[in-house]
Order: sequence, then structure tokens, then C-alpha cells
Amino acid sequence: MAQMTLTEKILAKHAGVPSVEPGQNIWIDVDILMTHDVCGPGTIGVFKKNFGPKAKVWDLNKVVIIPDHYIFTADRMANRNVDILREFVKEQNLPYFYDVGTDKYKGVCHIALPEEGHTRPGEVLLGTDSHTCTAGAFGEFATGIGNTDAGFVMGCGKLWLKVPPTMRFFFEGELPPYLMAKDLILAVIGDIGCDGATYQAMEFDGPGVFSLNIEERMTLCNMVIEAGGKNGVIAPDQTTFDFINSRNKSKLPYTPVYTDPGAKFCFEKSYKVGELQPVVAKPHSPDNKAFARELKGTKIDRAYIGSCTGGKITDFKAAAALLNGHTVKVDTFVVPATTEVARGLKTEKINGKTLEQVFLDAGAKIGEASCAACLGGPSDTFGRLNQPIRCISTTNRNYPGRMGHKEAEVFLASPLTVAASAMTGTITDPREFLS
Ligand code: SF4
Repeated sequence: MAQMTLTEKILAKHAGVPSVEPGQNIWIDVDILMTHDVCGPGTIGVFKKNFGPKAKVWDLNKVVIIPDHYIFTADRMANRNVDILREFVKEQNLPYFYDVGTDKYKGVCHIALPEEGHTRPGEVLLGTDSHTCTAGAFGEFATGIGNTDAGFVMGCGKLWLKVPPTMRFFFEGELPPYLMAKDLILAVIGDIGCDGATYQAMEFDGPGVFSLNIEERMTLCNMVIEAGGKNGVIAPDQTTFDFINSRNKSKLPYTPVYTDPGAKFCFEKSYKVGELQPVVAKPHSPDNKAFARELKGTKIDRAYIGSCTGGKITDFKAAAALLNGHTVKVDTFVVPATTEVARGLKTEKINGKTLEQVFLDAGAKIGEASCAACLGGPSDTFGRLNQPIRCISTTNRNYPGRMGHKEAEVFLASPLTVAASAMTGTITDPREFLS
């Protein structure tokens, strides 16, 4: 039998064939389809138009609906989007709906999915959001699709898909305390460019990856789309299983999949982690790479710590460890990705102080769990850049207008670099605060 990469093996299994090759078009069975408030209404429209106004989704237990983007706003159209989701969930009797204003509300979909046990090794997860690739951290095939494809999947649970070739990124050594997964992925994107992985799987491997906790692995996979990647993936290990088994409420069985020895990669690149430095992506592209040290002294107006990339508890622990006992020199916004992370801010402690206390004492503002200003949103969105100001952010995109005003400048960096910069009011390498 042909030797296959992890991605190819998952796709072959879901196509019901012994093997697949890059470039081959196949029908695959889908395990989970996720949609949210921005694309859900469009997906529902496509589904109803093509399958009929009275059609039922293909599998109640495989459709997950997570409002997270434009949630805490007075914007009438944004609120209408959530209402459309509510009507659809009621009509279809869908069990997995994490509605705002209820105890089930979660926040950002890509962090909510694993927290609620919707991610499992060896599965196929599709979502109407480009950062659905985050879930590759659990050893599954996860990718973003458009509303048309999603409407089709909603009706029949299948998708016509081209098998991507796989690129392999190997990280030697373990991360020093001043580096985070965000630095690794910004280094990769800076090296290969925003189109460097177009329609290719990006498999992350090596001790530098397997020494990361599960949240950091999610950060790596989250940003593969910024290099054009079809999906990011990390082979499951005990860290993965421990997380999955603690969250897999429905106890659904899963089968881990691994790259075969001798499988072909279309590209391979190795990094010595100990030789890397804190990275910043300058405006207006995630591949506009510089080292934090090179930008020393660059004035900023705002710091933002949040999103599916940089709003997890690991991100806040890292930022709080630097901020503890200091005050910020610029407006600093803290946005937990999910309600679970928000609870963690109140319970996780550093030197006897909760993370929440550390941030508030430092002068930061804390918002409600959601995408908030990562995608700009309506003008009343928490943390939105409503003026042409300069912001350093743990988010994943810095195209013009991404966080609000089209003339604002966004620098992407790790939570450590953002915290260090918030304390000085200028872009700062976190090594200046780490002995
Ligand atoms: S946090 Fe940002 S990148 Fe993540 S899903 Fe929300 S808008 Fe998209």
C-alpha cells in the first residue's frame, strides 16, 4: 500500500478508499460541521434553497453552531444574524448550539469546539471560518469552507475535495522561556510568505512541537491559513489524548492516524528553536516579518491580547507573568476567547494574584469572551480600532481595516511581546523583562 502522510490517511479513510494521492479529487464523509453568526445565515440559506425549505440537516449531532463574532453590539443586522441561528436551531432541534445570553454561551468557535468535545484525532472537521484549521492540533483534518460548500455538507454530510500535498516543518529543541508558538508560526509565515503553502497541508513535527501544550499547538495550526495552507496538523500524542479524553463527553470512539514512514512531503524545512527570536509581523501582512528587537522603540497606541490565536489561558498566563507588578503605558485590552477562559482569569493565579487581578492592577481593560476587535466588527465592539492608531496584537491578521479603521496599523506578536510592549508603550522584546 502507498505510504501516506497523516492528512492523506485521514482523507483516504473518509473517502472509503485504501489510499489517495495529492491532487486527487474525492468525496469525503464529514464528522463535524461548524458554523457561526457571520456565515451561519448564509449557509442556512444555501441549505434551504438547495435541499428545500423543510429539509433536515444530515445529522443532528454533527452540526455545531457557535455565535461568537458580532455578539456584544447594538448593531441591528448583527443581532439579526444571531436570531436567524436561533430560529434554525429551534426548527431543526439541534443539540449543539452555544447561544449568547444563556449558560451554554462559549465565545470563539475554534476554542469552544475542543473545549466542548467536538474535536477528535483522525476525524474531519469543517467550518465556515478560515481558522477552522486550528483543530489540526488534535491530529484531525480541519479546514475552513465557504457557505456554499457548508450548505451542501449540511444537507448530505459529504464534500468534494482535492487532496493537498503535505509540507513538513520540523522544530528541533525546546522553546526558551521568551518564545511562544506564535513566534514559531510567524517565523514560518515570514519565511514562506502568505502564499507559501497555498492549498497544501502543513504538518508540524519535532521535539519543539511535542513539548508544547495543547493550546500552543492550536496556535501553530491556527495560523497556517495565513500562509495559504489548506490545513495544519500535528500527530496526536499523550498530551492530545489526555485533553481529548477529558473533553469527549459523548465518549465517541476515535482512531488516531499517523504519517507513514517514508511518506512523501512536497517541502521540508527544519528550525532550531533555540536559535529563533521573538517575531513581529509588521503592517499590513502576516508575512511582513521582523524581530521584536529590530523594532525596538517603535511607538504604539494600544495593546490587544485576545482571539482564537492569542486569547487562551496559556496566552494570558504568559502575558500576566510579565505584567505582574507593572502598569501599562498604553490602552490595553484583554479579551478571553471563551467563557471557560474567562473563568480561568478569575481562578488561575500568579504569585497569589489571579490573572484578572494582575491585568486590572496593571491598568488593562477586560472584555467579554468573543472575537471582539479581532475582526473589527461594528463600531461599538470592545477594543475596536476606531481611529488610525497603531496597535500590537496577539491576533492573526493585520490587513488594512482588519481590526477596524482602515488606516490603523496592526503589529502581530506573541502574548509575551505584546505584554512587554504594553509596559513600555513601544515595541519591546520580552527578553528585556525576562532574566
Ligand atoms: S477570534 Fe478572530 S480569527 Fe478567531 S474566529 Fe474570531 S474573528 Fe476569526
